[in-house]
Amino acid sequence: MSFRVKLTLLIAVAIAVTVSGASFALWVVAKHQLLGQVDQTLQQQASVIAHSGGHSPGPLDQTGLYYLSAPDGDTTGQPLLLTNDARAVKPGHVSYLNTTIHGYHFRELAAGLVPTGRLVVAEDLAPTDKALDRIRFWIFLIGGIGVALAAALAAFVAAAALRPIRRLTAAAETVAATGNLSERVAVAGDDELGRLATRFNAMLAVLERSVGAQRRLVADASHELRTPLTAARTNVDLLREGRLPEDEQRHALDETSVELDALTRLVSDLVELARGEERQLRIEDVQLDDLVASVVERAQARAPQVTFVTALSRTQVHADPILLERAVSNLLDNAVKYSPDGARIEVTVRRGEVIVQDHGPGIAAEDLPRVFDRFYRAAAARSKPGAGLGLAIVREAAEAHGGTATAETSSSGTRFRIALPVGA
Ligand code: ATP
Ligand code: MG
Repeated sequence: MSFRVKLTLLIAVAIAVTVSGASFALWVVAKHQLLGQVDQTLQQQASVIAHSGGHSPGPLDQTGLYYLSAPDGDTTGQPLLLTNDARAVKPGHVSYLNTTIHGYHFRELAAGLVPTGRLVVAEDLAPTDKALDRIRFWIFLIGGIGVALAAALAAFVAAAALRPIRRLTAAAETVAATGNLSERVAVAGDDELGRLATRFNAMLAVLERSVGAQRRLVADASHELRTPLTAARTNVDLLREGRLPEDEQRHALDETSVELDALTRLVSDLVELARGEERQLRIEDVQLDDLVASVVERAQARAPQVTFVTALSRTQVHADPILLERAVSNLLDNAVKYSPDGARIEVTVRRGEVIVQDHGPGIAAEDLPRVFDRFYRAAAARSKPGAGLGLAIVREAAEAHGGTATAETSSSGTRFRIALPVGA
């Protein structure tokens, strides 16, 4: 059973129950009202008879005094058969009851007289019954029409209420069938369904962006991987031919080794970036100055041609030490790579910040906003080895910790800054 049919049925049942309840109440009230009128008439007759005593077929102190308001309107006093209920009425009490005598439906008032005897007055119920029949007929007719109308309305309401959901379903089905994430649904209003549509669109947008980013990463990566692979392949082919002189063989092997190193780094950088958001940070209390000191020490050992100058204040952060080390190391690598020999590189740590200032060529203004992009390399840097992933990793690392990575450049060099939240 479709949800629409269910909704229709539920609405229709709710309305039918309401209409039936209201009809029943109406019926009870009408019946009560009409019988009340009859009872009033009976009371008046009873008091007239009790005071006059004249129209009685027998004396008041005998077993009973029976009056009948006959269907023809004659109220002069026909004897009535005493019903058991009328017989049971105690002196000083009055009871009203419905009874059928000789095929006629009557309302009876039975009063127990003091000290003895009974006064029974009856009124024909035929007009009341007829009126009640008519009322019942109309209640059923109007109620029935009401319920039928309600069912039709319910179907209409259900269809209207579910229209936005049908649109969403259609959009979801299109996405599922075509894999086209640029699909969007029209958003109408800001009610629950409007918000659902907005969220649905937002979800598609996020998916589209992330799938796009993945595709670009894969495309860029395969492009970048090709260069060192081709170089290594060429060297291996030359070596296999075996016609190279001894020293050139050595050279080709060295070159191949360098290409394989580049390849290894590239692959590990790519894996790092591809892990992106799903990476689980191993957050711990990290003494930032100690961490930077050890990274600087290693960088200095690898690059004796530059001089690192450090100014490290004690500062602690909550961070993943491995990721953080990698980011700082990338900054130092860049500083070394883009500095002339013999240059100074100043590394400062203070209150959750790591600042790396070099005295290299700086970065052109048009490149500055893009250096943190994956695979972006300024034209000036293309002669140096690298894939353009180092700073992308720096930024991801900083942002994964809720921090920022920024770059400033001046004629005297470039200054990179990683700022992590402190305290907390
Ligand atoms: P990789 O780090 O992947 O080996 P890379 O160093 O070229 O390659 P990034 O570290 O991402 O890539 O840097 C991107 C670009 O920013 C560099 O190609 C270079 O143009 C510029 N850049 C980065 N650091 C400096 C710096 N200290 N001085 C001048 N230019 C820099
Ligand atoms: Mg780099």
